[in-house]
Order: sequence, then C-alpha cells, then structure tokens
Amino acid sequence: MASGSSNGDTQKKAPTPSPLRNSKYFQSNMRILITGGAGFIGSHLVDRLMENEKNEVIVADNYFTGSKDNLKKWIGHPRFELIRHDVTETLLVEVDQIYHLACPASPIFYKHNPVKTIKTNVIGTLNMLGLAKRVGARILLTSTSEVYGDPLVHPQTEDYWGNVNPIGVRSCYDEGKRVAETLMFDYHRQHGIEIRVARIFNTYGPRMNIDDGRVVSNFIAQALRGEPLTVQLPGTQTRSFCYVSDMVDGLIRLMEGDNTGPINIGNPGEFTMMELAETVKELIDQDVTIKVVENTPDDPRQRKPVITKAKELLGWEPKVSLREGLPLMEEDFRQRLGISKK
Ligand code: NAD
Ligand code: UDP
Repeated sequence: MASGSSNGDTQKKAPTPSPLRNSKYFQSNMRILITGGAGFIGSHLVDRLMENEKNEVIVADNYFTGSKDNLKKWIGHPRFELIRHDVTETLLVEVDQIYHLACPASPIFYKHNPVKTIKTNVIGTLNMLGLAKRVGARILLTSTSEVYGDPLVHPQTEDYWGNVNPIGVRSCYDEGKRVAETLMFDYHRQHGIEIRVARIFNTYGPRMNIDDGRVVSNFIAQALRGEPLTVQLPGTQTRSFCYVSDMVDGLIRLMEGDNTGPINIGNPGEFTMMELAETVKELIDQDVTIKVVENTPDDPRQRKPVITKAKELLGWEPKVSLREGLPLMEEDFRQRLGISKK
C-alpha cells in the first residue's frame, strides 16, 4: 500500500488490472498513457520511457500548447501511439500507468481561456481518475508549486496549505490544480486508486515553446534576437528553476516508488528575475539590455522548494545547475530560430 501522507491513508483495496495480465501468454509490456505528452515536459518523459523496451507509450494530447513535432522521432514506432484527444472528453484505453500532465503551464496560455483551463484541470482529472479506476492503473498528477499561491511560508514544504487568491486571473490554474489534487486523494481514499502527486516547480529546457511567455524561454529568445530582456516589476520576485532531465527523473521515481506524495520536485537554487536576466545576459550576449516592464496581477513574490521528502523518499535531487542548463537550452533555441553563435 502506498504511503507518505496522512491525507493519503486508505483502507480500500486498489482496483485490479485486467485478468489478462496474469495469463502466461500475455505480452508483458507496461502500457503507459501520458496526457499532455506532446508538450514540453511530456515529450521529454516520452523520450525517457521509450528507452525501456518493455514500455509501450500512448500519448493523448489536443495540441493546444504541444506539438507533434516534439514527438516526431517516435511517430510510427511499434511501441508508440499518438492520439489527438481532449482530456475533457472520456478516453477508453487499456493501460497500467497514467502520467496526467495535460494542462497549459504558461500563464499566457492558461489565462487565454480560463474556463477551458479549469475544465481541463477538473473534468480532465476526473476523466483520468475514472479511467484509472476502471483499468486498475496507477495515476500520477503533475501538480504545481502554484498550489502554494503567493506563499507566506518560505521555502515551501509540502505541508504548507498555501495562500491562493480564489477569484484572480491565475485562479483557473492554481485552484484548478488544487481541486485536481483533492480529486486524486478522494479517489484514493474512496476507491483505493493508486495515486502519485508531484508538485512541480518552474522547469525549463529544450523544446519549450519560443514566445510562450515563460521567463526562461522569453529571456533566451530575447537575448538571441538581440532584444531587451523584459524583467517584470519589481524584479526582486524569485523562482527556482529545474532542468527538464532532472524533472523527468523525479517524476519516474515518484511513479515507480510507493509514496503517494504530494512531493515537491524542483531545484532549490533560488534567483530573483533580475539575477536571471543578468545570468542570461552574461552567458548569451553581454550587449543586450535589460528593460523593466509592468507585471501582471497576483504574481507570487517568492518560490523555493524544500526537497527533503524527494531526497529521502525518492532518493532524488537535481543534478543540473542553472548555469549548466541555460547553455543547453540556448543551443536548442539557436537551432529553432536559425541563429548561429557569433
Ligand atoms: P506544456 O504546455 O508544454 O504541455 C502541456 C500539454 O498539455 C500540451 O501538449 C498541451 O497541448 C496539452 N493539453 C492542454 N490542455 C489539454 C487538454 N484539454 N487535453 C489534452 N491535452 C491538453 O506544459 P509543460 O511545461 O510541459 O507542463 C506539463 C505539466 O506540468 C502541466 O500539467 C503543468 O501544469 C505542470 N507543471 C509544469 C511546470 C513548468 O514549469 N513547466 C511547473 C509546474 C507544473
Ligand atoms: N517574468 C519576467 N519577464 C518575462 C516573463 C516573466 O520578469 O518576460 C517574471 C514573472 O513576473 C514571474 C517570473 O518571471 O515573476 C516567472 O514567470 P513565469 O511566467 O515563467 O512562471 P510562473 O512561475 O509565474 O508561473
């Protein structure tokens, strides 16, 4: 039985997978569904899971912020399947594990259609939990550090309940993820579903959408184009940035381990947005300027994970520092923008 959180205790027995699983003639592959697998983190997760020849991977994605391009090397592979599907509709597939990532992560995109964002988080998560219940699959939700809102506790531990505005422009995402977590634990307690909840802190790396509005992708694209780096006021707000390969490693360890979470997965290195801009400038182009611009409402002032749980329970900690990760992302952005090094 999974352990980890006093909120996660359950007396219910987990639903049993298909009886075919016990047949000696049934092929023994692990069938894994990744919702949102055409997106940034999802496509890196696909790459890692496909390395294991015992895995069959199914991606369900509506391509709102993701793209087939991110998965082009797997299209046509016999262990890989790509379905155009919106998680707000039910999905009938037979799988053993579900990584539920589907949800736009960039504030510009999730604020673009807030009603759709909250439907994706609530109805989408209900649908995936219903699927997990029917087929007896283990399900992992990629929740977010946004559940801590504008945190009054710093750094953030998993037992902090957060400081979230329920009616603001970010609420469709923050409150949507909070309800998604509630649904995960209710299905676990009521129906014995095997759940895993990751609270992801800001993640960056190759394949982020250029111009998706998130700070690392913005600064790198701006530096490469020779445009000013737009630091939003006040510039002293902090974030902690995790490189995507570390994130994928943490998610797989959480799925394979026996702890429900929630578990923070992030890099505890903490930077102000002005420090991030200075670092990008130093690494990419010392001639670019930094421009201070207006911010948007409810921007959290500080963000840094306590990762003791991840270290102790998953044996996980990030390996790639910001200074090591930024050049890897720069290389990918240069290729996609067609801008070679001077
Ligand atoms: P992303 O926007 O690149 O990927 C999200 C994917 O979900 C996209 O492929 C998109 O097309 C798909 N999607 C969106 N709505 C959908 C729907 N209704 N049905 C089917 N597919 C849908 O974002 P990402 O950075 O890869 O984030 C992945 C997950 O991790 C998200 O759940 C996000 O909330 C979470 N997360 C990410 C970060 C981060 O810094 N990247 C931080 C915290 C949490
Ligand atoms: N930000 C910035 N310049 C930009 C984009 C974002 O200074 O061009 C700041 C934003 O105000 C926030 C931080 O960067 O404080 C992180 O924003 P992002 O949208 O990447 O992610 P969030 O953690 O807010 O979801």
